[in-house]
Amino acid sequence: MPKTRFQALAESQKREHKNIDESGKRSELFGKQVFNEEKMLQFLTKEAFDNVKSAIFQGSKIDRKIADQVAEGMKAWALSMGATHYTHWFQPLTGATAEKHDAFFDILPEGKAMEKFGGAQLVQQEPDASSFPSGGIRNTFEARGYTAWDPTSPAFIYKTTLCIPTIFVAYTGEALDNKAPLLRALHAVDQAATSVAQYFDKNVRKVYATLGWEQEYFLVDKALAQSRLDLTMTGRTLVGNFSAKGQQLDDHYFGVIPPRVLSFMSDLEKQCTQLGIPVKTRHNEVAPNQFELAPVFEEANLSVDHNLLLMDVMEEVASKHNFKVLFHEKPFAGINGSGKHNNWSLATDTGVNLLSPGTTPMKNLQFLTFFVNTIKAVDTYEELLRSSIASASNDHRLGANEAPPPILSIFIGKQLSDVLDELEGVSKGKLSPEEKTELKLNVVGKIPEILLDNTDRNRTSPFAFTGNKFEMRGVGAKMNCAKPMTVLNTIVAKQLTDFKKEVDALIDKKNLKKDEAVFNILREYIKTSKRIRFEGDGYGMEWQEEARRRKLSFNKNTPEALQIITSKESVGLFKEMDVMSEVELKARQDVELGAYIFHIQIEGRVLGEMVYNHIIPAAIRYQNLLLENIGGLKEVYGAAHKKVAESQLNLLEQVGEHILEIKKLTDEMTDARKRANGLSTIDKKAQAYCNNVKPYFDTIREQSDKLEKLISDDLWPFTKYREILFTK
Ligand code: ADP
Ligand code: MG
Repeated sequence: MPKTRFQALAESQKREHKNIDESGKRSELFGKQVFNEEKMLQFLTKEAFDNVKSAIFQGSKIDRKIADQVAEGMKAWALSMGATHYTHWFQPLTGATAEKHDAFFDILPEGKAMEKFGGAQLVQQEPDASSFPSGGIRNTFEARGYTAWDPTSPAFIYKTTLCIPTIFVAYTGEALDNKAPLLRALHAVDQAATSVAQYFDKNVRKVYATLGWEQEYFLVDKALAQSRLDLTMTGRTLVGNFSAKGQQLDDHYFGVIPPRVLSFMSDLEKQCTQLGIPVKTRHNEVAPNQFELAPVFEEANLSVDHNLLLMDVMEEVASKHNFKVLFHEKPFAGINGSGKHNNWSLATDTGVNLLSPGTTPMKNLQFLTFFVNTIKAVDTYEELLRSSIASASNDHRLGANEAPPPILSIFIGKQLSDVLDELEGVSKGKLSPEEKTELKLNVVGKIPEILLDNTDRNRTSPFAFTGNKFEMRGVGAKMNCAKPMTVLNTIVAKQLTDFKKEVDALIDKKNLKKDEAVFNILREYIKTSKRIRFEGDGYGMEWQEEARRRKLSFNKNTPEALQIITSKESVGLFKEMDVMSEVELKARQDVELGAYIFHIQIEGRVLGEMVYNHIIPAAIRYQNLLLENIGGLKEVYGAAHKKVAESQLNLLEQVGEHILEIKKLTDEMTDARKRANGLSTIDKKAQAYCNNVKPYFDTIREQSDKLEKLISDDLWPFTKYREILFTK
């Protein structure tokens, strides 16, 4: 009997839920471990406090003297909270977070011990980080990179460590992380959107991008997860016969949360609250053992940091509750995968959501301006936006089981479609007073404050307008949101910059009034960006063919999707918006391609091991069982045994055929891997892994799943889908 599987099953059945201390008001716990404004006021001098605030608001520099003061205050607070170490917390291109802990404790020359942490340690560090991927930016002779404090995301204490959010850059200035480009993109969109918002309100001084993510995940019993080689090594199941019951009954969705899961969630939410992550909703998702957690939205940079922190905290809390949390986009075949919807909008420092319809025609013209410009930006750069959510694991999810397809399109709902259709008919040039009144009263003025048809109706749209924000739904569950957010904010910044120029030109050269100019430009944008709007169901061949006719990109896999990153247009865009240089883009493309290759390579190796060391041996054991039985029957029945043992002989033959086939396919896959490894460029290698290696995963799996169906349950080596998905 395969020991691991049955021991794991026995262990998982003994679990009990842990009781969580729910005392203490959430509002009192909120941000307890964060060096937020309240603590800054308490621990910083007035001068230091003002400097940090202006660094946050205006991006001004903090000089060394002030940094020393801030460090002093931060240290005092951290020590009062029992922290012993500090770390620069950063986001290397691996997609995860990294940290290197140093103790506050130091020994002075005269041998006296003291707690040391000054401005120098706060502002800049040089982690020994030469093994993080850099896409060739740091050659070995130039292997230096440094982390630098990001004052816009507050420091926090995790366990006993003071974590300081930082960017990670090379000494030559190039970004080696995901945060630095995001901050630049947010700066670009702030500048562009602020000057457009000032058409409507002169008092606007700053525009923030806002992000509210919805994190989907699976929870499975820790012992059961550990019993599967594929889940442990690759984050997903490479084989596994579909369980008889999947999600067809929809009985898990919004159902009662099992007690063990509930205590995990309570524990998690408590930790999140103390860390200042404003988690709000939790519920079951569609697939068995799948759940979702969503916070209140925040400024985008902070929101990205909070999502990364959340994923770390989740892993830890899950383990404490004897769960393994799966962030992989497609851990189980045949049922829904996990995404991370990115709800995005723009908000002014005067408290206005620029994508929220207003109460007056003027407010609605502002809304329409940002709404149409976003549509236009996504239309122009749809392929680039698609590239920002490409990964080996997300490839399995996009286009399958209720996930959006890899073709980008925008859903806006009927009401707004009607409004845009009307605006398309606006006259060229100057508008007559009648037309203006008509527009204001009956088109712009009629946009209701609450858009009833913009709820979750079209769940498969990759980019949907949901009443007062856009929701980007292709983002993968384990991705760093910084990547899609960098692209989205950059393309919107570029679009708004162009819009401003065009409107100003009409005002200056054609002598149009501001609102006339705005209507004129919007009309053109509505006309030219029509192909990106799609209200239908994104599944099936019909939409694929329609999308082709519309000349929308259709990049099915990661190596294809990543090509666009270094196109002439992308390089020009990122340069103009001051977000990334060509070197930085190329580096990212290489890192992503490299990661893709590694993923498929590891999966191939693990699958090979499973076939040779587990699946074939189990099949042979079953063959022996059959042989023993057939032999016994022959002894008793003689020549007549053929009739009595007919089924056994037939099973024997079937098992034999699958063994032959699975071995043949596995050998072919290994050869394909060897050939791929021999290729000279990273690009060719990635394509070979995608087109020549990966297809074997499905055919091998098919053989394994057939064997799983045939073989005696007590011989099957891997914990089955029904066991892993339906234990509570
Ligand atoms: P639901 O869609 O579940 O009915 P909401 O529409 O309020 O609930 O919010 C869904 C998600 O959208 C939440 O994660 C929330 O934080 C986020 N969200 C709401 N408003 C905004 C906004 N203006 N900017 C960014 N995200 C937002
Ligand atoms: Mg949603």
